[in-house]
Amino acid sequence: MQSLENATEISFWDVRDWNSRKCLVRVTRRDEVQRLVSLLPGERWGDQRPGCEHILLAVFKTPAGNVEIDFCMACFGGEHQMPKEFYAAFEKLRGKHES
Ligand SMILES: [Zn+2]
Repeated sequence: MQSLENATEISFWDVRDWNSRKCLVRVTRRDEVQRLVSLLPGERWGDQRPGCEHILLAVFKTPAGNVEIDFCMACFGGEHQMPKEFYAAFEKLRGKHES
């Protein structure tokens, strides 16, 4: 996985319908971005659920360009196990930003 340590912004997208994908949450506060990145797996491999359909996408803006990773409650990028803390943080942010 590319290094996300220098990410300056993270946005979370609902990509159920790619043509009308919508941004769920955008995080730009430096401490908040760094906290989220710190919750991500290093090189830990997890179980990929067969037939898992990822309708969520995280976009990390880094100086080297955007890194896009699809995810769900069970996995992060398909090959990594979703860290519970990261998903919980995403859910919390999403709740906070939805009216
Ligand atoms: Zn999955």
